[in-house]
Amino acid sequence: MARPNGRRAVQILLVEDSPADVELTSEALSEAGTETNLHVVNDGEEALSFLHRSDGYDEAVRPDLIILDLNLPKKDGREVLTEVKQDPALKRIPVLVLTTSDAEIDIYDTYNLHANCYLTKPVDLDGFIDMFEALDRFWLRLVRFSS
Ligand SMILES: [Mg+2]
Repeated sequence: MARPNGRRAVQILLVEDSPADVELTSEALSEAGTETNLHVVNDGEEALSFLHRSDGYDEAVRPDLIILDLNLPKKDGREVLTEVKQDPALKRIPVLVLTTSDAEIDIYDTYNLHANCYLTKPVDLDGFIDMFEALDRFWLRLVRFSS
């Protein structure tokens, strides 16, 4: 299916410290079918280096979409979100928060920091596949991105 953004693969930055969740996300994304390039970083500092193309990431691509865990080593997801949404060059990149937390305060806080959506992690692969099928249809096929 042709994407509104053209035919190139969608560049996704996944900020996730749990190897199991990286695996589940990657598996669910490939099941969903849209051609993507998944770039994985494991903590908040690394995420910001990737986005700023610094500290060894000078070849990093600008992601079309960021999938962000909240609880991360070094800098947590809230700090990453704050920096992204305050940066004129980065703030247009949609940030999908994907976390184990379903606490109202986390939902409230992350929307206050301009997250584009808040998702609670499914418990197993089937759940991830269902979620990423929906996410694929909306965020990867329908939504248009800005540079
Ligand atoms: Mg985590």
